[in-house]
Amino acid sequence: MQALELLVTGAVQGVGFRPFVYRLAHEMGLGGAVWNEPRGVRLRVVGPERAIENFCWRVKHDAPVPARVDALQLLEARPAVAPEPFRIVESQDEGARTAVIMADLATCPACRAELFDPANRRHRYPFINCTHCGPRYSIVTALPYDRPHTTMRGFALCPACRAEYEDPSDRRFHAQPNACPACGPQLAWWDDEGRVEAVREAALQAAVQALRDGRIVAVKGIGGFHLVCDASNPRAVETLRVRKHREEKPFAVMVPDDTAARALARISDLELELLRASAAPIVLLPRREGAALADEVAPGNPNLGLLLPYAPLHHLLLHDFGRPLVATSGNRSDEPLCTDEREALQRLRGLADAFLVHNRPIARPLDDSIVRVLAGKPCILRRARGYTPLPIPLSFEAPPLLALGAHLKNTIALASGRSIVVSQHIGDLDALEARDAFERAVDDVQALRQLQPAGWVTDRHPDYASSLYARDRGLAAVTVQHHHAHVASCMAEHGLERTVLGVAWDGTGLGDDRTIWGGEFLVAGFGSCQRVGTISGFHLPGGDGAMRKPLSSAVGLLQAFFPEAMPRLAVELLGLEEGAVRQLMALITRRANAPYTTSVGRWFDGLSALCGLCRASTFEGQAAMALEWAATPHRERAAYPFEIRRADDLLVADLRATLVRVIEDLRSGVEAGAVAASFHHTLAEVVVGMAERQRGLPVVLTGGCFQNQLLLERCVLRLRETGHTPYWHQLVPPNDGGISLGQAAVAAYLQQGTAG
Ligand SMILES: [Zn+2]
Ligand SMILES: [Zn+2]
Repeated sequence: MQALELLVTGAVQGVGFRPFVYRLAHEMGLGGAVWNEPRGVRLRVVGPERAIENFCWRVKHDAPVPARVDALQLLEARPAVAPEPFRIVESQDEGARTAVIMADLATCPACRAELFDPANRRHRYPFINCTHCGPRYSIVTALPYDRPHTTMRGFALCPACRAEYEDPSDRRFHAQPNACPACGPQLAWWDDEGRVEAVREAALQAAVQALRDGRIVAVKGIGGFHLVCDASNPRAVETLRVRKHREEKPFAVMVPDDTAARALARISDLELELLRASAAPIVLLPRREGAALADEVAPGNPNLGLLLPYAPLHHLLLHDFGRPLVATSGNRSDEPLCTDEREALQRLRGLADAFLVHNRPIARPLDDSIVRVLAGKPCILRRARGYTPLPIPLSFEAPPLLALGAHLKNTIALASGRSIVVSQHIGDLDALEARDAFERAVDDVQALRQLQPAGWVTDRHPDYASSLYARDRGLAAVTVQHHHAHVASCMAEHGLERTVLGVAWDGTGLGDDRTIWGGEFLVAGFGSCQRVGTISGFHLPGGDGAMRKPLSSAVGLLQAFFPEAMPRLAVELLGLEEGAVRQLMALITRRANAPYTTSVGRWFDGLSALCGLCRASTFEGQAAMALEWAATPHRERAAYPFEIRRADDLLVADLRATLVRVIEDLRSGVEAGAVAASFHHTLAEVVVGMAERQRGLPVVLTGGCFQNQLLLERCVLRLRETGHTPYWHQLVPPNDGGISLGQAAVAAYLQQGTAG
């Protein structure tokens, strides 16, 4: 007889892991105990040596999804005298808070069946859940994950719920958010002044009726509010656009089920799997011709962002309404998501006609995640509900470090031990409300882990709100160059440790030479980074203000490559007034507010304007998307010529010859989409050309430009054809949402082993 004490780490709390261990021990006739502790799950197992060995193997390999065992660590082994019955005991909350906190899980099939079963005591109860599903990260307030440490602490379990909660053989054993109509949270229907007009089932029915009447309803869900309306009603969707000041950026659509999703979009097996996954993200899908949706949902967009109901409340709404609903974040443009009903009443005033709310508090805002399949693999473009805060493993030991991320699409990341936890998407830090949300997230992650960072990490850009945060508080922060962080984030998610060729292409990031980078080739590891190549650059008239003005990029490009033909060329190709062109040219020649940039994002903007596809954009990335969409049907087009030349110690991909051919084609009436396709293919050949000059290095494709399906897939294809090994993002976004992970990985690498 032997007694072992073990620590199990991984996604093991809030997923029915202890009942699994309990049943396994009983099945194998072993004694001992299991309990949650702040680092994970502890277990003591007593029995014959061989049986224990077998038991350990099964604990590691047979844990039911969504549980995931990362490690089984032996703490103590001693001979045992007498057997004891196996028990589940009270959680312990001493020690370091490093347990994996589960992400929120979509309603499981068993709960869904009960929800619509008239004989079940939870029939049509909008907060049904079990150990396999329900809210997790959105309700946890402290560790270990136990009911008093969740926003459910105010709801006392009724006898029936308590019996389930305490029965190890029950599906709701220690399901922390367990509740029923008798003891749990309830719905309420508020008018736009917050007056309660209905509760419970009547509240739900009032919401369904309001949606049928074409009204806009603010619905409190798992990680915050949605603004919801009938996706087939053009007037309702148009009203939502006007009120939200959102001109063209597409809205996500929640569909009742798979069949409804298939009626709207072409869906591959992998995409269907993503839609149905317990993370339940918004999946970007190719829209079907003639899809029965209002055009205003995603104007001029060949793609649609669809998601399935993931909370029981959504299942009821969609079931009763019977048609797709627009479900967009409950916020004003550029502000963070609303989570509290009283706050929503203020902040969503004038946006929503009425409010469907409930009294289960939301611990932190969690937007819907967005996923797109790129080159045959899922790529998370916005990482929040369903994925956060699952950790990214690290191959070395890091001291506790907090990385503060980029300025746009901000996330923060906490490194400690052998993993990095990236926060939910926080957003662009321009608005005051967004900076408040950022500060709350910084406080939240430290409080939850009860961890004092030994170091801070920021972008090298001194004026980012995240950089200012550290400076204002006198925190001595390590700075990491923006594109190095992009490359490191992709390396970290793939566990790459050796030197790579990083292709970091995005809209804007401050370079070490104080110009705006964004078309960079970096030979990099976590601990080092050398810029070895770039794209030929130009002066961008209007600077930061021109980021959303594709015409300014186009004028900048023409002035850089054909100064002798200006302003005539811009007048001819862009249809601008000569005076307007001369004004932009003056900014460039005077070097006043016309920074030099090598950004591929700005190249895309310029090309989009030259091709007449997007002259003014209303949201970030719009011009590049227009170029991608136009190009997609022309995959057979050849690349344009270009030249890679050496300038000092840098290789420059000179696109002058490319631009000459673009102009020739446009003048001779070649379709804009065909020109756009050739331009995409040229960029892929540039990547191959640079990779040829760094043979042997894995090629890491990162930065916001690689959200572009055509560009990414062409690069992957051509790199493979030429014998290179490409890597791209799957776990964190290629855009600036991945920057915090890269920052944390770089700083952790430089400071590894310095932990106390
Ligand atoms: Zn369930
Ligand atoms: Zn109950």
